[in-house]
Parts: sequence; structure tokens; C-alpha cells
Amino acid sequence: GQGLMAGKRGLILGVANNRSIAWGIAKACAEQGAEISLTYQGEAFRKRVEPLAKELGAHIAGHCDVTDPASLDAVFDEIKKQWGKIDFVVHAIAFSDKDELDGRYIDTTHGNFLRTMDISVFSFTTIAKRAEELMPDGGSLLTLTYYGAEKVMPHYNVMGVAKAALEASVRYLAVDLGSKNIRVNAISAGPIKTLAASGIGDFRYILKWNEYNAPLKRTVTPEEVGDSGLYFLSDLSRGVTGEIHHVDSGYHVVGMKAVDAPDI
Ligand code: NAD
Repeated sequence: GQGLMAGKRGLILGVANNRSIAWGIAKACAEQGAEISLTYQGEAFRKRVEPLAKELGAHIAGHCDVTDPASLDAVFDEIKKQWGKIDFVVHAIAFSDKDELDGRYIDTTHGNFLRTMDISVFSFTTIAKRAEELMPDGGSLLTLTYYGAEKVMPHYNVMGVAKAALEASVRYLAVDLGSKNIRVNAISAGPIKTLAASGIGDFRYILKWNEYNAPLKRTVTPEEVGDSGLYFLSDLSRGVTGEIHHVDSGYHVVGMKAVDAPDI
């Protein structure tokens, strides 16, 4: 095969529909010759993921809910059966109770705190541990984060705390797995209108604010995140690990944001 990803096989978790960031990454990898396996979260998403998998000629590793370790075991058993080993894994999974992505962070409940951390942070660590077993020749792991990990963003609340922990996990995992030539990185994406983002209050305003203040004067697309993902999942980034790379039209470098956008 031809392309940057020729001969590489990878598991991509987190495709919900054709607006998912994971879908942008899957398309970019497939275009460059990667063989891909996707998962879906329950029957409701199966209907959406199956036609998308077909579009890319991708394999489906089955149902995966990261709160159910048996489903993760089944997915990795299936990958092992299908391919024996893998070259990359993409983790594009996060969840928090919508009601708590509003109001004050201080009001987060214990239950939602644990659930948010479990689904959005621990899942990456347990997936990395399972991936390690299938990466005897090294590999690349990639997760998705957001600027709310670094700075307080309206409505991000406990998800910001979770993303901070996820970014720290990237660094610890990079050290744990570095001697096996398994690299671990994250893309910090600017706001994109996806299913997960629909749980965040005033999301239209956040998009406008980013358009107005980002150096590139626009937001980013899942395809742009996908192309940057390609760098991390391919050998182009073979000297890079533990990195948090912003794909946000440059928003994070601007210190003095404008007071307000004229049309919002
Ligand atoms: P999305 O809704 O398309 O994807 C989220 C995915 O998480 C879905 O596929 C869903 O099935 C999966 N998921 C949730 N709970 C799960 C569970 N218990 N088990 C297995 N899977 C589960 O939305 P997206 O915006 O593409 O989100 C992908 C990643 O990108 C998330 O980590 C998100 O925080 C991150 N991100 C999104 C934005 C944005 O503005 N959309 C910005 C930066 C980072």
C-alpha cells in the first residue's frame, strides 16, 4: 500500500456519527493507507457506526462502554484475533452529566465527579494498558483534550478538571511506555459542534468567541484535527511523546482577548 499510514493498523474509539472528531481522524488515517477498527457505544450507535465503517472499509471491533471492563476485554480480544498486534489507538471519549456543565464547578456531585473521571480519564489509562500488550514493536496512542484543562472556561466545570488529569496521564503514560517505543500524545482541539459538545451550555457563543479571538479568525473542523492526528499516529512524529498539541486556530496563544465579538 501507499501513504503515510501504509501497513499500519489501529483501533479508533469514539466515533458516534459523521461529526465526531474520531471520524475526522479515521478518515485522515484511512486516506493514508491505514487499516482501521471502530467501536460503538451500544446498539443506538451501532446503526450510525456501521455505514461509516463501510465507507472506509474499516473493521468493527464491537460494542465498547468504558464503564464495562468486559466490553473492553472483548474489543481487545477481537483485535488480537483479527490482527494479532496493532500500531495505534485513538481515544476520543468523554462524558459528564449535562446538568453539571452549567452553574458553578463547586456544585459538582461526588457521583458525577467519579463518573466523569472514570469515563474521561481512567478509560485512557486502562486502554493504554490493554494496547501495550498488542504493541510489541511500539506504537502511538492519542487522546483528545481541551483548553478548559489549562484555564477556566465557562460551562466546562468538572470536565476541565478531568481534562487536566487526562493531560497529566498523557505525561505519566509517555514515561511508562517510552522504553517500549510506545508514544502517548494528546490534541487539544478548539470547540467543534459535535454530539458531546451539545451538552455544553451556550456552545454557539463559545464558537463565536473563538472565531472572533483566534489568530486564524475561525474555528477548526474534525478534518483538521484528523490531519494533525495523522502526524501523531504516523512515523512523522517518531521523536515526539508526552505532548499536548493545540489544534485551535491559535486561540491559546492570545493573552488579551477582545472584550466581545460585534455580532454575538
Ligand atoms: P462525540 O459525541 O462525537 O464523541 C464522544 C464519544 O464518546 C462518543 O462516541 C461516545 O460514544 C463516547 N463515549 C461517551 N461515554 C462513553 C462510554 N462510557 N464508553 C464508551 N464511549 C463513550 O464528540 P467529540 O466532540 O468528537 O468528542 C471526542 C473527544 O474530543 C472527547 O474527549 C471530547 O472531550 C474531545 N474534545 C471535543 C471538543 C469539541 O468542542 N467538540 C474540543 C476538544 C476536545
